[in-house]
Amino acid sequence: MAAVGKFVWQVAQKEDVLWIKWIHSVYIKDQGWWEYKAPASASWIWKGVCKAKDILKDGYHNNNWGNGSKKYTAKEGYNWLKGQYATVGWHHWVWSGINVPKHAFISWMVALRKVKTKERLKAAGVCQDEACLLCITGTDSCMHLFFRCYFSRTVCSSIMNWLQIHVGQQECLYSTWKKWGRKYRSKKQQQVCYCALDAIVYHIWRARNHSLWEGVVLSPDRVVQSIKQEVIGRVNWVMQTWPDDVKTWFNNLST
Ligand SMILES: [Zn+2]
Repeated sequence: MAAVGKFVWQVAQKEDVLWIKWIHSVYIKDQGWWEYKAPASASWIWKGVCKAKDILKDGYHNNNWGNGSKKYTAKEGYNWLKGQYATVGWHHWVWSGINVPKHAFISWMVALRKVKTKERLKAAGVCQDEACLLCITGTDSCMHLFFRCYFSRTVCSSIMNWLQIHVGQQECLYSTWKKWGRKYRSKKQQQVCYCALDAIVYHIWRARNHSLWEGVVLSPDRVVQSIKQEVIGRVNWVMQTWPDDVKTWFNNLST
């Protein structure tokens, strides 16, 4: 995957190579590379490159790797993928001070990939279908659901807006948790952010289950409202002893 990423990089850069020019004129034409989907008639090699592109695109900014100024290398891609899959570092925030226990529990199950996604059930031979229950276009896997799915990105961005954290173009839980911790110097404010992050994971998983059992996809707005309500309830419960400036900050958010 990390090695195929080299082709993804070349296409993004529109490198002056014959096959890249050919790919742009025959396949991509005027479409954006990051949104592009390979047609059913495309070769398996091209489909493979496109699949790699979908996985690696979160590592890009403005068609450049990383923070927007780096060149992609297989090593960079490998390390990034490893980070995505294994060392997400969720333990830094999942069990943070004021988090709601049921949220922390589900988040931890997700971090350990212990929740029963269709991807896992398919691997165990229990079901055949593995389509995402929230956006249809992805796979019902932890990786997709919490990092790439349009639904979770939308929810994540709305909660970031609410907490006055800058929303980048490609926000997802992985790209944001460090940012959430850095944004606020105050420990209490950080705790509020981590409480919200846990609530996002819990409510996305809940929305996914709602879709599975009720056959109805909740709107991201409704999920955002539920997250806010629970975070507000939790914070109001514990904030009596907090410094006044933090209380004011929080109360201004929640109005
Ligand atoms: Zn999805």
